[in-house]
Amino acid sequence: MSPVSPVSVIIPAAGASRRFSGGRRARTGSKLLSALGGKPLLCRSLEVFDQAPDVCEMIVAVPPGGQKQFSREILSQVRLRKKVTLVRGGKTRAESVWNALQRVSRRAAYVCVHDGARPLIQAWWLDLLKKSLNGSDGAVLGRPMVPTVKQLRSGTLEVEETLDRGRLFEAETPQLFRKKAFLEAYRLLGRRAFTMTDDASLVEAAGGSVKAVAHSEPNVKVTSVQDLAFVRKMVEGDGYRFGIGYDRHLLISKKPLYLGGLKIPSSKGSLGHSDGDALLHALVDGILGASGIGGDVGDIFPDRDPRWKGKRSPFFVRTVLQMIRRRGFRAAQVDANLIMDEPKLGIWKKKMAEHVALLLGIADHRVSVKAKTSEGVGAEADGRAVSAQVLVVLQPL
Ligand code: MG
Repeated sequence: MSPVSPVSVIIPAAGASRRFSGGRRARTGSKLLSALGGKPLLCRSLEVFDQAPDVCEMIVAVPPGGQKQFSREILSQVRLRKKVTLVRGGKTRAESVWNALQRVSRRAAYVCVHDGARPLIQAWWLDLLKKSLNGSDGAVLGRPMVPTVKQLRSGTLEVEETLDRGRLFEAETPQLFRKKAFLEAYRLLGRRAFTMTDDASLVEAAGGSVKAVAHSEPNVKVTSVQDLAFVRKMVEGDGYRFGIGYDRHLLISKKPLYLGGLKIPSSKGSLGHSDGDALLHALVDGILGASGIGGDVGDIFPDRDPRWKGKRSPFFVRTVLQMIRRRGFRAAQVDANLIMDEPKLGIWKKKMAEHVALLLGIADHRVSVKAKTSEGVGAEADGRAVSAQVLVVLQPL
């Protein structure tokens, strides 16, 4: 079903990202290419508008000559159902928006302008703006001003007056306009329109009516690396990853018993290609799962490979730690259960935890090893097997 009153979305993305790159002219649109949740930052806005029922198309103003790069580096990263048109950006934001307006679909009743650098946009904000519009020509999303704002005498640092905070409103995007009124504002203002830095200002200057629509959600405009760090935290969470590992080894006579990298005095030891350390094998599996590498210890160190015959398992742990390091992770915490009836592991659990902590390079209190018994049920009963369950938490480097 096509929307009753379709909205064309315009995203000016032709800026030079000067503030972001510390004053130098950045590589074309670099800010919008910054990775956020595994994709270029601009993709988030495109995806949100693509899902919004009223939106019929998206028009993006890109730097002159930047169309190919935009398609290659941004559009190829998202699967969009709706039409995306790229237009050449102008010298100013308002000129870019004007260029985009020339391509707006005939059937669009509304035009929405949104900063590509505000990736925390939510689809319902568009509905909120539409509902708030009533008889007005435009509606601007934003929030009541919190800081005290002082107005200075022109060209000086002398305070002229302290503005009444109750009447101040910080404008953000998206901003929604009736198409006719928005086009009319550009026509009325002529070249003057191109000097305006906020879209709603055009409608206001042309005598149109604009509503302020307050919300309190985060809607950061990414202009610095600090902003980028903040939105990453919002989108990607605190970066912790979780994995679970499990392993079981049969116990046979005349074999050493290794657990947590320690040799435990025992009449029986693990049957296995390597040293059969069930705790460290489960740990490796948990690390692989949490890091997104996937698979298990046997996929990386197959028991068909003679190199791993009799190999001590701390080597496997150190190897996967290097692998996850290359992916930007390190171990944060480990919680483990060992299930074994004979020998009793109670006296060894603290030592095992300390040894695992040392291996992972983390503090002792971040590793816990519990020694459980089978209660006489299953393969662990009577000392026939040992099994291990491990929960692994990884954190960004
Ligand atoms: Mg194993």
